[in-house]
Amino acid sequence: MRRLPPISYVIIAYMLLAFGWWCILLLRKNEEAHIARVDKLAIELAVQKKIERASEFRETENYMLLTDRFERQQRMILGEAVFLVLSLIGGIYLLFRNLGKEISAAEQQRNFLLSITHELKSPLAGIRLILETFQKRRELKPEIQQKLSTNALAETDRLTALVNDLLLSAKLESMYQLNREPIDFGELVQDAADRVVMKYRGAKVNVDIEPDIPLISGDRQGLTSVVVNLLENAAKYSQPEPIIYTSLQRGGESEIVWTVKDNGLGIPDHEKRRVWAKFYRVGNEDTRSTKGTGLGLFIVKQIIDKHGGQIELRDNQPRGTVFRVYLPVS
Ligand code: ADP
Repeated sequence: MRRLPPISYVIIAYMLLAFGWWCILLLRKNEEAHIARVDKLAIELAVQKKIERASEFRETENYMLLTDRFERQQRMILGEAVFLVLSLIGGIYLLFRNLGKEISAAEQQRNFLLSITHELKSPLAGIRLILETFQKRRELKPEIQQKLSTNALAETDRLTALVNDLLLSAKLESMYQLNREPIDFGELVQDAADRVVMKYRGAKVNVDIEPDIPLISGDRQGLTSVVVNLLENAAKYSQPEPIIYTSLQRGGESEIVWTVKDNGLGIPDHEKRRVWAKFYRVGNEDTRSTKGTGLGLFIVKQIIDKHGGQIELRDNQPRGTVFRVYLPVS
């Protein structure tokens, strides 16, 4: 229940109080009507001389019938009031829950549009600038040419990775089929760690792979995406000097355990369950400085689930984050 205008809470409180008040009024009116009926009956019986003393009145059959009817009516009013209030509370709860979902979907969409626009525009702008430089200054020194084309290639890699992530995340929700083959997970970790060191200058990645890790049966493209996403996040969210520790161990006979620890920003407890959602990014898009789309952890979780594995997220000490992935061997 969040972010409703305060007036909504006032209206809801008013409705509940009004229901309570109507119920009390109805009970009172019913009681008054009962007293009037009892008085009328007492007069009728006295006139017809069916009772001689006042104490006899309460034992007459007519009086008992009246009292029975009155008590039944009181119970009915109370029962209906309780039912109405409960259904009102239930209805309000469902309304709030759906509204909350709508709000977070709209927020995610806004996040997505802002981040995707940025992520698409900046490599395109970079490539355009490089091409313009080539066009205007044909006589560039070979080393500058080399540097510019390396940068342009890096930008196209960034675009390709983004488009691949978008396609993969769309496929994961509908028709993604694992293309299983025997995988040396340690090799994937080592390759991704080398890539991170190249890409994030200043990042230290400590790789500790236990000998004789069994091959697992998995989807190479999917698992590569898992490893790259977690290691790149560790570097991205631990600036300016990422120190990353990653280890691969056996977890008994039937699984392998891969851990990534960083010394970065960490993820606050109340965000830990949300970060797996598609397009979810911690914080506010307008103030955030790190680049991203909020697709990485969504893809990671989906792929691990499809492999029958599990992923845990904890705080590192004294700061940073620990991701631990459990994958079955076969
Ligand atoms: P993004 O493209 O934003 O990196 P992800 O799905 O990979 O998307 O991550 C979702 C959010 O989780 C990120 O926006 C970031 O705030 C948080 N996050 C992910 N990994 C880490 C990490 N190692 N340290 C701190 N925060 C992280």
